[in-house]
Amino acid sequence: MSSFAQLYTQLGPVQQTKKRPQRYSIRDPVDINMAEYLISGGTTYVPEDGLTGSTLFGSFEGLTYNDFVMLPGFIDFTSDEVDLKSALTRKITLRTPFVSSPMDTVTESNMAIGLALCGGIGIIHHNCSVDAQADEVRKVKKYKQGFILDPICLSPDNTLRDLRDVKKQSGFSGIPITETGRLGAALKGIVTSRDVDFLGDESLSRPLHDLMTPRDDLVVAHYGCTLEEANEILQSNKKGKLPIVNERDELVALISRTDLKKSRNYPWASKDEKKQLIVGAAIGTREEDKPRLEALVNAGLDVVVLDSSQGNSVFQLDMIKYSKQRYPDLQVIGGNVVTAQQAKNLIDAGVDGLRVGMGVGSICITQEVLAVGRPQATAVYKVAEYARRFSVPVIADGGIQNTGHIVKALALGASTVMMGSLLAGTTEAPGQYYFQDGVRLKKYRGMGSLSAMEKSGSQQRYFSVGEKTKVAQGVSGSVVDKGSIFQFAPYLISGVQHSCQDVGALSLTALRSNMYSGELRFEKRTNSAILEGGVHGLHSYEKRLY
Ligand code: IMP
Repeated sequence: MSSFAQLYTQLGPVQQTKKRPQRYSIRDPVDINMAEYLISGGTTYVPEDGLTGSTLFGSFEGLTYNDFVMLPGFIDFTSDEVDLKSALTRKITLRTPFVSSPMDTVTESNMAIGLALCGGIGIIHHNCSVDAQADEVRKVKKYKQGFILDPICLSPDNTLRDLRDVKKQSGFSGIPITETGRLGAALKGIVTSRDVDFLGDESLSRPLHDLMTPRDDLVVAHYGCTLEEANEILQSNKKGKLPIVNERDELVALISRTDLKKSRNYPWASKDEKKQLIVGAAIGTREEDKPRLEALVNAGLDVVVLDSSQGNSVFQLDMIKYSKQRYPDLQVIGGNVVTAQQAKNLIDAGVDGLRVGMGVGSICITQEVLAVGRPQATAVYKVAEYARRFSVPVIADGGIQNTGHIVKALALGASTVMMGSLLAGTTEAPGQYYFQDGVRLKKYRGMGSLSAMEKSGSQQRYFSVGEKTKVAQGVSGSVVDKGSIFQFAPYLISGVQHSCQDVGALSLTALRSNMYSGELRFEKRTNSAILEGGVHGLHSYEKRLY
């Protein structure tokens, strides 16, 4: 007998029930469902659906973010109520869980300032000299909204040609003139477009001291003035640029009216107790990194990331102990690790945070050439599940391609995510845009690519210092223009909030605890489910995300 016929036969007595005959007659498919339900016992029991985190990762199969999906929960709040506060380390909490990767095409001071203003943190790369890296840290720590702390300067002996070159490269039109042509020297004047706009090529070799508005005619503000005071001076004098000088009349900063007009409020900015933005920097794990660490700490560093592709090494354990002992206030992030055993050694040595990921970055070929690594979702779950017993937060590093991956990483126990490719196309990433096949691009390269390892800093990460034959673990490529971090980070924030709303988590803390309690349910995706979850069946489409 077919199951429908069986159902029909069984329905007879139900249909004739006197109590509620009208509800159980078979008239349409809905009624059949009801009948089926009654036959099965008619209780209000809601069957368990989906998998808990521990069941999902209980098998011996390594999973990536794309291999599973979260099942929806119950919504009783709006998405903008979702609290994204999360721990970076034992002692540093961020308002948004975003960390930029210490790569030379991702994080220097501009990215670190932008991300810190948006509630995250940038980790300055170390593929440069000690002084250059310490300078980048200093720029973030000294950042004051509205104040340009490293304005381009020229000297009185520079010519109109030099000025035009600077304008062409930087786009800036008001250039302060100091005695030496550098910041920190005596202010001599300023050249604005009004001084030089109508000069022709015959004037190109004229020195700027002939053309500038001299110091005596300049309105300036003094070091220590507030942004509001500076703003008032600019407004009342109708000037476009306001030089800030110290008591020796040396130039220390510049304020620009156009920047002031653009300046916004960043209530989520990541700041220390002195109200300065917080910043991290990466170093290697060898003896020569100790003076580097000292220079970075002197520049005001808040957190150091010990940068190694395989963090479970005697070098790293020694460096963790050294850093914690020498700089007790400095937060130390160790890594990278992908197993609980690796994590144990670093936790025992005293780390304040763990960076998780091996061989999963977009530019990475480690798993291909060395056959070592771990699928990232499994790595994040396994390490976070172990590290939480010691209150050591986990950073999910690499392989983040979209907001969905961010939330999955956070749902698996990570407290923050570290991104390279996702941020490398923003204006604040180092490097210039260029066009290729009509697309606006920026360069993005792995720190284990041959081109990056030609510079000294990144070789250590891949244990290849001094080796005659280098084994590349990364590639060099390009990413598409993403606009400014000030537009991109709000998109990431909103995306994560909407996702948390869908699964019924009012905060990232709730998201994680729902996962550990088993309330948050997951489902594995087959290959066809992954295809179904993406755009499909269209002739063509445009994918605009924000
Ligand atoms: P993405 O966000 O997927 O682009 O991955 C960025 C992460 O890849 C970084 O934070 C590093 O952990 C890792 N990474 C950077 N350079 C290399 C490399 O050359 N080989 C392997 N992994 C790399």
